[in-house]
Amino acid sequence: MLKSSFCVHGHFYQPPREDPFTGEIPNEYGAGRFGNWCERIYQECYLPNAQVGNFQKISYNIGPTLFAWMEKKHPETVRAIAEQEKQVFQRTGISNAMAQPYFHNILPLASERDKNTLILWGIKDYTKRFGHAPQGMWLPETAMDLASLEAMAVYGIQFTILAPWQAKDPRLDTTQPYRVALASGKEFYVFFYNSFLSGEVSFNPSSTENADTFVRDWLIPQLDSIKVDHELFSMVASDGELYGHHQPFRERFLSYLLDGAVEKTGIERQFPALWLKEHAVEHSVELLENTSWSCHHGIERWRNVCGDAPSATWKKPVREFMNRLADSIDREFETHLQNLIRDPWELRNAYVEVLLGEKSVEDLVADHATQDLTPGQRSLIRILLEAEYDRMRMFASDAWFYFDLDRIELLNSLKYAAHAAGLVEQATGHNPTDEAVKILTQAHSEVSSLSGDITFLGYLKSFEMKIEQNSH
Ligand SMILES: [Zn+2]
Repeated sequence: MLKSSFCVHGHFYQPPREDPFTGEIPNEYGAGRFGNWCERIYQECYLPNAQVGNFQKISYNIGPTLFAWMEKKHPETVRAIAEQEKQVFQRTGISNAMAQPYFHNILPLASERDKNTLILWGIKDYTKRFGHAPQGMWLPETAMDLASLEAMAVYGIQFTILAPWQAKDPRLDTTQPYRVALASGKEFYVFFYNSFLSGEVSFNPSSTENADTFVRDWLIPQLDSIKVDHELFSMVASDGELYGHHQPFRERFLSYLLDGAVEKTGIERQFPALWLKEHAVEHSVELLENTSWSCHHGIERWRNVCGDAPSATWKKPVREFMNRLADSIDREFETHLQNLIRDPWELRNAYVEVLLGEKSVEDLVADHATQDLTPGQRSLIRILLEAEYDRMRMFASDAWFYFDLDRIELLNSLKYAAHAAGLVEQATGHNPTDEAVKILTQAHSEVSSLSGDITFLGYLKSFEMKIEQNSH
């Protein structure tokens, strides 16, 4: 076997679950004694992985909205994760943690402005957690177009990880990273994970029962089957929740795999950024745009029916409704801020400082204002920034991932949409949903009586009632 190195990447993430009005996660069906899914998966996965030190053994990213929840509920674990990353950073000069766009939105479906905000917020979140800028960024669902890579490169990101089928050449050698030719000429690299090993780890529990057996019966035969004449770098990529939540006690598998089993066979433990530090990238790759790791029809899964969910006719109208709502909210945001704020979109980009607790919204708005603002103007701007936050959050990919509309992820997205719309109406007197809500009459559940329009209008009405109650 040629000189080889190996890495596991875990994508740790939860969809936003907070009620937009209270900021807390309500009790969720199926989470049992834990109350909600974040807490349950925390106890089964995030905590045990931190306890066995896996955050210095694997490559990983933690979604910013999950980090925000954990910071609130279990700050000691956030510290422990950062401390483990610091060990790697101090020892090697690179980080084993990657950033992620702030919300888990499908970037090829997002506007250029949203791409920028989501990437920038994700970078700021990472920098706050780890104390230095990120070098790599994991894309939600690895959904990719060149504009997203360009936007990441502009903010200093140098690499991402993709599925092998996102390369144009189906026989591509995935044991080395590649350079991507960006129109801007900026430097950007792509690593591809090993699809066979990643599939086995994700979907064949017997492969992860014993780390030594995994190395002997899965990893080494796979490396031996690759006929190339350079040093090999193989990567397994999966959801991080696999290790302990989807499959019990796999945090121990992971820990021993990377702290003994792999290295005793002469295979080095590796990280993407460390590889880039120690090796030249020699070859370029052409990528297939609008592709992802979990839909085999490009990115159709998040906007239309596709072979993964052939009867999900609700997806298209929900996506169209949200696009129109977003445009309408953006128009209000721009119109009401343009004379008061130097650049409303720069203000939105900077709003992450408020989310991260680094600045009060009053101070932030004052920094960006063109004049002294009245209390009424300050309140208008604060409410419209909150609306922008929820109108980006409503696009979290989870809403469109499943078969039916009657799922908590989609219902939460409709709640965020209603909250954003309600806030805009509260601030400006204009209802930004206007005619768009009619599109939702085409979105129905097949398993219950839910329909998109009634659900959305119900959430909007209850928001208005809460505003009314609070004002008395
Ligand atoms: Zn699909």
